[in-house]
Amino acid sequence: MERLQKVIAHAGVASRRKAEEMITEGKVKVNGKVVKELGTKVSSNDDVEVEGVPIVKEAPVYYLLYKPRGVISSVKDDKGRKVVTDYLPEVEERIFPVGRLDYDTSGVLLLTNDGEFANLLMHPKHEIDKVYIAKTKGIPTDDQLKKMKKGMTVEGEKMKAVHVKIMSTEHKKGTAIVQVILHEGKNRQVRKMFDALGVPVDKLKRERYGSITLHGMNAGDHRPLKPHEVKQLR
Ligand code: URA
Repeated sequence: MERLQKVIAHAGVASRRKAEEMITEGKVKVNGKVVKELGTKVSSNDDVEVEGVPIVKEAPVYYLLYKPRGVISSVKDDKGRKVVTDYLPEVEERIFPVGRLDYDTSGVLLLTNDGEFANLLMHPKHEIDKVYIAKTKGIPTDDQLKKMKKGMTVEGEKMKAVHVKIMSTEHKKGTAIVQVILHEGKNRQVRKMFDALGVPVDKLKRERYGSITLHGMNAGDHRPLKPHEVKQLR
């Protein structure tokens, strides 16, 4: 038996807080009856409906995908472009990506059917290292790197890197390889920060998420996460 709000959160319908709200607002039915009591416990035999839609109870699964460039971080695309779940055709559970990587960005992408896990990892308070390697057109100065670490406002949004380091430079070509570590996960954050400094990103890869790396994998490969990896991420 599990608490109703937990079951709803796990199904990826809403965060646990939002699920509690929906319960008290009378939007949730158990076996056809509205339930407003937050402590209610349900088992896998109970039918739970949220706003008239039955939730699917599946065992949680967790995967790592080495997302290639040129793929959308979504489960379907109106224009028929390739989406990340195309790379895990044998997975029958209704998995979705935890956050997103841009179309042109490659690297570590987690996929799960556990909505609560995804919400937890995407919460701003969840300070997990996201390590990016950017190839920049132009070589950032020390001052520019300091700005990234101090925090900058880009398009009205505050953005900050935890750590920024130049790994190598090609002076003749005027390019650099820069490692950027973020805790935040704002939309196009790395690209936007470098754009704002006048040093645009040419290529971007996420090479680590917490302790999860792409070790031994090629672009397009996937593997299930190990139980200890899932535990470490929480
Ligand atoms: N920052 C970006 O600019 N793009 C991503 O995909 C992730 C972080």
